[in-house]
Amino acid sequence: MTVTLPILCDRFNRFNERIFGGRLPRIPLRVSSAATRAGSFSHRTSRSRSGIVHTRSISISSAFDLEPDALDDVIIHEMIHYWIDLYGPRETPHGPAFRAMMDEINRTHGRNISIRLSATPEASRKPRFVGVMELPDGRTGIVVPVRSRLAAMYRDIPRLFGAVNCRWYVSSDGYFSRFPSALKPKLYITDPGCLKAALAGARGFTISSDRLIMSSSS
Ligand SMILES: [Zn+2]
Repeated sequence: MTVTLPILCDRFNRFNERIFGGRLPRIPLRVSSAATRAGSFSHRTSRSRSGIVHTRSISISSAFDLEPDALDDVIIHEMIHYWIDLYGPRETPHGPAFRAMMDEINRTHGRNISIRLSATPEASRKPRFVGVMELPDGRTGIVVPVRSRLAAMYRDIPRLFGAVNCRWYVSSDGYFSRFPSALKPKLYITDPGCLKAALAGARGFTISSDRLIMSSSS
């Protein structure tokens, strides 16, 4: 799900009530296109004639296509920064007070907030469907279809490319994020060694009567 300003405002208000006791004053919320961080909290101070002005804001990037729960975790992560900034001790980002509050919220609200998710796009990658095909000439090709075309490609692709063997996986590994999600059958020849490493944590699946059936192990 891609964040929009109305979604962000809605989530901020909801979590402020449910998790932060309504004690986070409203601040500017922004949707950015940051490519390296899913979220950020900023606190700037400037001097004006009437004294020091504090400007706090939360930005959430729309460049990440996160699952709804993961998006919520990013928003709450930034709200914890805001809380620590207002009420917590002065500490480095993700210091002891931050971590204690994050752990407490994860425990009491069944969340999965992490430090990694906000800091790097790595953990936020959406799972991809990957078809691995052994070709008659010995090369290995992969296809990475969009969800809506998965069943059709699962059915057609081995025949289209004359594959000797075809296996399918779901993987969140960054290796696959370089391949665009294909609407049409498109085969990428890959290095089997790299592919094997990238698929280390992947789960296999089959499709039967249009239903996706996960294998019990990879
Ligand atoms: Zn953070």
